[in-house]
Amino acid sequence: MSKDYYEILGVTKNSSQEDIKRAYRKLAHQHHPDKKGGDEKKFKEINEAYQILGDDKKRSQYDQFGRTFSGQGGFSAQGGPASGWDFNGFDLGDIFEDIFSARGGSAFGGEDFLGGFGGFGGGRRQSRARRGSDIAINLETSFEESVFGVKRSVVIDRTVLCEHCLGKGAEPDSAIKKCATCQGTGTVRETRRSLFGSFNSLSECSICRGKGEVSEKPCKICRGVGAGKKRTTVEIDIPAGIRDSEAIKYTGLGEAMPGGSAGDLYIKIRVHPHPVFRREGNDLLMDLSLPLSKMLTGGEENIDTLDGRVLVKIPELSQSGDFLRLRGKGAASPRRGGRGDLLIRLYPKLPKKLSSQAKKLLSDLEKEGL
Ligand SMILES: [Zn+2]
Ligand SMILES: [Zn+2]
Repeated sequence: MSKDYYEILGVTKNSSQEDIKRAYRKLAHQHHPDKKGGDEKKFKEINEAYQILGDDKKRSQYDQFGRTFSGQGGFSAQGGPASGWDFNGFDLGDIFEDIFSARGGSAFGGEDFLGGFGGFGGGRRQSRARRGSDIAINLETSFEESVFGVKRSVVIDRTVLCEHCLGKGAEPDSAIKKCATCQGTGTVRETRRSLFGSFNSLSECSICRGKGEVSEKPCKICRGVGAGKKRTTVEIDIPAGIRDSEAIKYTGLGEAMPGGSAGDLYIKIRVHPHPVFRREGNDLLMDLSLPLSKMLTGGEENIDTLDGRVLVKIPELSQSGDFLRLRGKGAASPRRGGRGDLLIRLYPKLPKKLSSQAKKLLSDLEKEGL
């Protein structure tokens, strides 16, 4: 059964890093596969949980976004009108960085001819390549869809590299020359005067946009930008058993960045609550109220589960709050496969009114001590 990382380590959202470390050490020691009675699966689970919760940054990402899955869906270039789902593109920057490793690299590699962002401290160039923004979209699903999985498509207007110049911003036959404004450094020095004297500061060259080089013939299609917006349809394969607030990550399907790598696309799932079923781990819970007589003498009852109608046996002398368990009728575990159970909690339905006949029968029951 798949659990919450806090549950796996037996800690709470309020536990300190010290508590988490202590809990991890104890459990890792206990379940180490080299030990007698060790459990490799459990040990891996504990380690996965500690990798996230033991790191303040990853822990706060996890608190905010839950677990993410790497997406497997395809992606096609043309799309119809976006409709039917919440379409909120917003920039998450790097906050999702390596929550879970995802497949592949960026969809559009782009030759690295920029050499990185123009450095601002002492003119030193930073080694980090430019990266396009991530795109995050909220996608709503019904409770049933989250249990069984569903395929959806979303339409996004994303930045893609210009197909004519492949993101270089120059006509394919254009020569590249050193930027005259910044002498190829990508940065320009500005002198500012203030009450305390004059200061030199470095800023990115606006002519070559920090590249240090310019093309003699800018691309006719993108006017030298190297990229533009394009409507894209992404097929989303929502795995069976996904939970509310979990996200699916599509590496490289965020905004493209000429000369750098594309950001990622995050599909954050919002599961609508169900009027009957509640989810607890991979189990589903429901309440069932029965006539008092059926609770006492037992019998059979038709239950509408998410898999259809099932006839269940009500045991004699069922107590209020007793559970019936229907194995395998719960939600799927998207990581481990298999399904949880459906737990049916029994309650007596007490009457609001009594007929004189019922009163008479009850007075007989009273004599029986009931
Ligand atoms: Zn172009
Ligand atoms: Zn320049």
